[in-house]
Amino acid sequence: MKPKIAFFDFASCEGCQLQVVNLEAEMLDVIGAVDIVQFREAMTEKSDDYAIAFVEGSITREKDIPRLKKIREQAAILVALGACACIGGVNCLKNFQPLEDVRKYVYGDKADWYETFAARPIDAVVPVDYYIHGCPIHKDEFVKVTKALLLGKKPEIPTYPVCVECKRTGNVCVFELGLTCLGPITRAGCGAWCPTYRDNCAGCRGLVPDPNTNAEKEVLKKYGLTVEQAISQFRIFLGYSEVAK
Ligand code: SF4
Ligand code: SF4
Ligand code: SF4
Repeated sequence: MKPKIAFFDFASCEGCQLQVVNLEAEMLDVIGAVDIVQFREAMTEKSDDYAIAFVEGSITREKDIPRLKKIREQAAILVALGACACIGGVNCLKNFQPLEDVRKYVYGDKADWYETFAARPIDAVVPVDYYIHGCPIHKDEFVKVTKALLLGKKPEIPTYPVCVECKRTGNVCVFELGLTCLGPITRAGCGAWCPTYRDNCAGCRGLVPDPNTNAEKEVLKKYGLTVEQAISQFRIFLGYSEVAK
């Protein structure tokens, strides 16, 4: 019998699920090996009988908690899909402003109709078995991780920083272009996507396990930048790790 897998979303733009839908040719391989029993973005059929759950989005409301716990109870393997689920992602920007103000910006005079609390990654609520990082996720990594899970193997996710891939690609360091970059402390796996296109790494794949923050500080200092400047610029993805310290 094929393993049953399901996809779920919490607060997110659903871009990571879209990456899965856009797999096209590779998706046929994956579909051939599994039964997808729930995937709101791609199909209407729905079953709660699944073994592997891919969860996108961060947790932003009280009522998300029982729903996520129920998914966890059913799933033998739970995989966090994308930066929102893995590290809290862009949703955590709201954690640095009064939540009442945030609700008013979004819902105006209907603000009281909608509950909200500080955004958090899904592992702040339930144990997570595996992580597929990025905003959005890389299609190749999704296929690689899924194949490893189906073979009963531990998926290999890089623990070294983006700088390694960046150097390997032969990029000019964007610090030389006047930008600030979180590559020295961000987990690799994207092939240094942003620096390759002359943009800075904003840390969407989260911090490496033991980030060398001293090295990052030294690099910032060398280019006349302060840690505070880096934090304010890169809170976009790493805000939760900032408040969780
Ligand atoms: S990680 Fe990025 S692409 Fe994925 S759901 Fe969140 S905001 Fe969208
Ligand atoms: S700091 Fe950024 S641009 Fe420079 S090598 Fe590291 S990842 Fe590449
Ligand atoms: S370079 Fe940084 S921000 Fe860009 S995709 Fe890779 S980890 Fe994310």
